[in-house]
This record gives sequence, structure tokens and C-alpha cells, in this order.
Amino acid sequence: MPELEKLQMYIDAEGHDPASGAYIETFNPYTGKAWGLVPRGNADDVNCAVAAAKKAFVSGEWPKLTATARGHLLRRLGDLVAENADRLGEIEVRDNGKLIAEMALQTKYAAQWYYYFGGLADKIEGGVLPIDKADHFAYTSHEPLGVIAMIIPWNSPLLLLTWKLAAALAAGNTVVVKPSEFTSASALAFARLVEQAGFPKGVFNVVTGYGQEAGEPLVTHPDVAKIAFTGGSQSGTRVYEKAAAGLKKVSLELGGKSPNIVFADCHMENAVKGAVSGIFAATGQTCIAGSRLLVQESIHDEFVDKIVAFAKTAKMGNPMSMETQVGPVTTPPQFEKILGYMDVARADGAECVLGGQKSVRPECGDGWFIEPTIYTGVTNSMRIAQEEVFGPVLSIIPFKDDEEAVEIANDVVYGLAAGLWTSDIRRAIEIPKRIQAGTIWVNTYRAVSYMAPFGGYKSSGLGRESGQDAIYEYMQTKTVWISTATETANPFVLR
Ligand code: NAD
Repeated sequence: MPELEKLQMYIDAEGHDPASGAYIETFNPYTGKAWGLVPRGNADDVNCAVAAAKKAFVSGEWPKLTATARGHLLRRLGDLVAENADRLGEIEVRDNGKLIAEMALQTKYAAQWYYYFGGLADKIEGGVLPIDKADHFAYTSHEPLGVIAMIIPWNSPLLLLTWKLAAALAAGNTVVVKPSEFTSASALAFARLVEQAGFPKGVFNVVTGYGQEAGEPLVTHPDVAKIAFTGGSQSGTRVYEKAAAGLKKVSLELGGKSPNIVFADCHMENAVKGAVSGIFAATGQTCIAGSRLLVQESIHDEFVDKIVAFAKTAKMGNPMSMETQVGPVTTPPQFEKILGYMDVARADGAECVLGGQKSVRPECGDGWFIEPTIYTGVTNSMRIAQEEVFGPVLSIIPFKDDEEAVEIANDVVYGLAAGLWTSDIRRAIEIPKRIQAGTIWVNTYRAVSYMAPFGGYKSSGLGRESGQDAIYEYMQTKTVWISTATETANPFVLR
């Protein structure tokens, strides 16, 4: 057996071996074989990383840099990310099995967040207040929070890290990242680019390991000012509870059960492609998956036939091939979870019209592949319609009219995203107003941008990433009062 590559954490601009001396095997989901060893970090490693980040926040070069200089560093980092996009994309694919066609594009596009927030860094202005006291001068300024803990999932590791990091660094914070135990390699490779860009040591640190062993000590560390978390609702809730004990600021990007709503007046071929992109792209392993397809009754049967025919042609296999359209599931627990939901759907009476099992196609080898799966006869109260499966599993639910579409769309605990397919301008404007979701796509799906705020309604999360406001998630406002009076007024009354 070939020797596995041993990775190191990244703390204070140096490789760092785990205090525990222990490692976690990391796998290639396409081959099902381990390729590397990720350090199994614990509270001792977290303490080192937070100490480095705290030191970098309060002393040395970083706090002395002007916002313009921070912007320059971010833009240089953006250039390095773009130059290294193919290599970083390949590292992602080896760990999470997503298509190189998507991951190389994602990493290239990630550069834009560094350019955008690099440009924004020196445009965050405070204000002079037209203060209502004649003998005072008062102004506000926006300051960074301190050490930010970032906890990242396995589905789009570098992109989701970037959404947080670009804004947090532009604001002047320092950072400790805990990537997913399944996909730590890309954050560690990226760390060297941060160093190459010229960021002072300690500004960016990576601790690897399990959520409970490395993530929780980071969340509860007294010197961490804020936790920016992306992941499942269960872990997000636990992180929120733990953070509450230290009164820490928190932003949460959690799961979804997004409705993709197809009206009879839609452009049918586009809507079919939109429905496929909503659930089979990224093998359905995306928080914004349009996993509930709401189809108007009058076109239901025709639409089902078309989407089944289209999905049947999806090419599965090696995610490193540009031809592949559906890759493997990233982790064995996720693979088992998806298969478990197929039993649930069957027991609840949903009818499987495509897939419904693990894939045994020869081109899928020993990887963790699941056939693109479509259920009809689903009612919105079934578990398959209420719970996040996070796999290539689509539930089709018929509806009568606008009222019923909106009612079904909103009848879940989540509110991350929604899609709408219609040629009627009235619907395109009115329905989004009534849907409880942070992002709504009309006649498109899965579009994201560095300038478009992203985040959840209801149980899909707290806070927003991307867009100008995202920088304030990593800043706090200070008000400064200066007296211009020659004599101090009565000290026993409020000024
Ligand atoms: P997960 O919640 O299992 O893990 C996410 C991260 O949290 C990992 O790094 C994990 O180690 C860490 N973690 C787990 N328990 C922790 C704890 N108690 N304390 C601190 N850290 C802990 O999620 P996952 O399986 O890696 O990712 C899939 C989930 O992420 C899905 O539910 C998906 O919807 C969600 N997600 C949301 C978005 C979004 O932007 N809203 C984007 C991508 C993924």
C-alpha cells in the first residue's frame, strides 16, 4: 500500500503537528481509498492558533496597516487564488469528489471575493454626528472584532471559507479556520498563498480535526470574538448554544429544503434544466439544492416525463473528467444517510420514478455513487419533503394555484433559497415577495455572486455573506464624544 501523505496544520505561518500525535485518514470519494492523513487537532492546538491570531491582532504589523494596505494584500491574494485555481480545484476534487468542471471554476471565481472586499476595505466610513449638544463633537468609526473562528463544511470548502475570510480580513480581523475533517487539504494549501501574498504571520491559521475535539474548543475559547459557521442545522444549533455562554457574536449558514416552483406558463425546456441543476448538480450536495420540485398540476405528468428523460442521460463517473455530470457522494456517512432516506420515502408511500439506489455502473468503480433519484406522489408533510437529504434526491409535489404554491413553499422550517419558473411578469414580481427565503431565483437557479447578499430565513441561519453589508458582520461601531466646553457641567446629571 502506498504511504499516505501526512498533512500539517498551519499556525503562526508554520506547519504544526497535532498535540495528540493522532491523524485522521482522508479519502478520495471516487476511488473510496485513503490518500492522506489529516492532523487530529484538539484544544491544545486551538490554544496555540488562537494565541497566534490574538497576538497578530493586537501587535506587530497587521493592526498598523491602513485599510488601503489591507486592500492591496487582499487583491494580491485574489491574484494568487486565480493563478492557482486549477491546482486548488484538483485538491478539492480529490477530497470531496465534486466535479473538476465545477471546482476549478469555483476556485477561479473565488478570487473575485478577494478583489471585491479588497476594494471595499478602505470605503468603510464612520460619520461625524450633527450632535444635539453644542459643546460636544462626536463621531463614529467601525472597528474589527478581533479573532474570528470560521467553521467550514465539506461541500464547497474553499468557496465557503472565502465568503467569510475576504470580508473578515478586509475589516482587519485575524482568523482561525477549522475546515471539515473530510476536506481539510484545500484550506492548508490555500494557507501558503495567504503567506505568499504577504499577510503578516498569525493573521490566518488553520486547525484541523473533528467538530467536537477541535471545533468546540475554538467556539468556546475566551479570546475568540465571533464564530462564522457553515454546516448542518444540528451542529449549527450546538455551536450557537456554546457561543451563547460566552456571549459571542455568531453568524450561521445552515441547511435548506428549497422549493423550485414550476408554473404551467413557464418555458418548459428551461425549467427542466433549472430543476436538474437544482438537484443533480454537485450530486445534490449543496445547501441551496432545489430538493422540492413544486409543479403545477396541469403540466405535472408532462414535466415528470421530461425531467426523468433528461436526468437519465446524466453521465456519472470520474469527477476529474470534464465529461462527468454527476460525481460521487463525499463521505460514507452521507452515502448511508441518503440511502436511508430512500427507505423513508418508500415507507411513506412516495413513488420512485428514477434511481432509488446506489449506483452499480462500471464507470463508478468503488466510489460512493448514488443514482439520480426522483420521487413523485410526494406530499409536503412526508419526511422526504421536510428534511434535508443533501444528495441527488428530488421530491416532486403537485400544486393547483399561486396560493397553494406559496403555502407549500413556506411550509418547512428552512428558508435558504427558492426558484420560480414562469413567463408571467406579475408572478415573477409578486411571488418572491411572499416566499420566506434569503435568495429567490426567477427563471434561473444556483446563481451566486460576491456582490449578492446570501443567507437564510428561519432555521437556515443568521447573518449574510457577500455584498457590501457582509463586512459589518465582522465589525463593531464605536462612538467617540469630545467635549469642547471650557468648563465641566454639573456632574450629577446626564449630559
Ligand atoms: P456539519 O455540520 O457536520 O459540519 C460542518 C463543520 O462543523 C465541520 O467543520 C465540522 O467539523 C464542524 N462541527 C461539527 N460539530 C461541531 C461542534 N459541535 N462544534 C464546532 N464545530 C463543529 O456539516 P457538513 O456535513 O460538513 O456539511 C453539510 C451541511 O452544511 C448541510 O446541512 C448543508 O446544508 C450545510 N451547508 C450550508 C451552507 C449555507 O451557506 N447555508 C453551505 C454549504 C453547506
